Amino acid sequence: MAVFVALGAFLMTLAGGWVAQRVTDRRHLVLGFAGGLMLGVVGLDLLPEAVDAAGEPVFGVPAALLLFVGGFLLAHLVERLLAVRRAAHGAGEERVPQVGLTAAAAMVGHSLMDGIALGAAFQVGAGMGAAVALAVITHDFADGFNTYTITSLYGNARHKAVFMLFADALAPIVGAATTLLFTLPEELLGCYLGFFGGALLYLAAAEILPEAHHAHPARSTLLCTVAGVGFIWLVVGVAD
Ligand SMILES: [Zn+2]
Repeated sequence: MAVFVALGAFLMTLAGGWVAQRVTDRRHLVLGFAGGLMLGVVGLDLLPEAVDAAGEPVFGVPAALLLFVGGFLLAHLVERLLAVRRAAHGAGEERVPQVGLTAAAAMVGHSLMDGIALGAAFQVGAGMGAAVALAVITHDFADGFNTYTITSLYGNARHKAVFMLFADALAPIVGAATTLLFTLPEELLGCYLGFFGGALLYLAAAEILPEAHHAHPARSTLLCTVAGVGFIWLVVGVAD
């Protein structure tokens, strides 16, 4: 089942990359919608599941929420470090292809973790599996979009961007397949989902949404974001 869902993740990642390559004039609407999907997935799907699964609070705070904050901070840290490297290579303007490839490789590593979370969630139960499947499949669109965009943005050849996109699309399947070899305890999975939610929210708030409004600050983009959140709420409600 998990490997089957991972196949959906594979197709969704490719769809995201394809849109990133195709859509230029409606890019801001797609990004706005993707930001809304990510916000919805974190707040309405991942965090409730993570808090349920993660077990005992640590010093008065649910462990999943501590890791949520940790994930947000770590994503912020990584982004700042990349920005410093960028600035060191010529006044922040000149783009170094290696930075794009490093960021894309980090996305592939992250997608591998998505697959592991997916496999582990189906081991816990069908409800948990469905929740994580929703999170992985919807945000994989954004993953594919970002992997393609970030690789080509830094001046890498198109075939490199396509290669990174395929690696990112295959990663969830590989990750899900590895969980056939071991079992992840539910508490650990809950903690990972909290952490993952924090990183995802950071990506939506600091990268995707500002990029969506960068060239066209428009009401239609905002509406797309709200529609993205609403869509996730609908899916969570129906799945419930
Ligand atoms: Zn992902």
